[in-house]
Amino acid sequence: MKEGRCLRWILKAISHYLTFFLLVAFVITCCTMLFVSTLSEDLGIALTSENLAAAAKLTFWNVVLISLIFTVIDGLRRKWTVERPVQHISEAAEKIAQGDFSVRVTPIAKFATDDTFNEIIECINKIAEELASVETLRTDFVANVSHEMKTPLAVIQNYGTLLQTPDLPEQTRLEYAQAVTDASRRLADMMTNILKLNRLENQQIYPKSDTYDLGEQLCECFLQYESVWERRGIEIDTDIEENVLVSADAELLSLVWNNLFSNAFKFTEQGGKVSVSLSVEGAYAVVRVKDTGCGMSPEVGAHIFEKFYQGDTSHATQGNGLGLALVKRVVDIMQGEIAVESTVGVGTTFTVRIRRNEHAME
Ligand code: ADP
Repeated sequence: MKEGRCLRWILKAISHYLTFFLLVAFVITCCTMLFVSTLSEDLGIALTSENLAAAAKLTFWNVVLISLIFTVIDGLRRKWTVERPVQHISEAAEKIAQGDFSVRVTPIAKFATDDTFNEIIECINKIAEELASVETLRTDFVANVSHEMKTPLAVIQNYGTLLQTPDLPEQTRLEYAQAVTDASRRLADMMTNILKLNRLENQQIYPKSDTYDLGEQLCECFLQYESVWERRGIEIDTDIEENVLVSADAELLSLVWNNLFSNAFKFTEQGGKVSVSLSVEGAYAVVRVKDTGCGMSPEVGAHIFEKFYQGDTSHATQGNGLGLALVKRVVDIMQGEIAVESTVGVGTTFTVRIRRNEHAME
């Protein structure tokens, strides 16, 4: 099959070039004959018309044969070094266009082609890789959202059905209604977080730059958890430096503190301790949120900033694994840094570094 195609290709190439060879051979033969007859006249050599006709024929067919050999050789070279890589590249591009992102083009040996083709091949492979990872993220995201929605929806459905039972005692009715409210709040919170994350990732939120006292904001956010630490007997400790000004989007940064505080209280058992501190380190305002909670292993710590990741499933109903993904995105937008140190059974410390207001530093 392959040999037949090759032969057809050679025949096609020969027929393409034949007219050209014949014309070139004719012109060269005429020139050579003119040259030979002029030379023979000048040298006084008498050439017969038979001699000239034989020389003309020999020149003509020699030119045809040699040109043909060189053209076939050049054609094969072109086929190997140009047409073959172009064919591989266009086949891969077509597969990518049809949604097959697993396709990869093998680079061509250096001696066999121009470097430019390998550069194009590298680009095509990178495009396919990028598209494949975007596709995985998209399908994972859809799967995660669907999974996260299923539990609260099932709760709403079950308790909704139970609420229709006639003659329910008032206390039970209130419990069922509370379960429906909690599940729908979870759903609403998840949707809000997904929308926020989506807008942050698509750069639809342009951070505002207000200059404000970071310590005051931290205290305000922390105080929102007063009822939690009082109810659960959690000791608190605050060490907030005064007059630390930052130029940042206050609303976005409050998202960071709220998520870190809510996690610290969520993962700390009764009688534990949660501390928050604010200090100045050079050009940065450094916030540390520390708890004596369950802590996390290095394997869990490596994934906590991923969307929908939940290392501790015992608290799964109190979150949806989007909190720290949001925190990371906001800190990145603010060009800050976030780090975590944690030991299982001992506790966790999150450290956030945000640039201070430049005028306040002078
Ligand atoms: P969720 O809202 O479900 O807790 P997050 O994105 O806020 O999601 O957190 C992701 C995971 O990070 C949690 O499931 C938990 O395993 C881990 N984590 C976050 N904060 C802490 C903490 N203070 N102590 C221990 N583990 C934590």
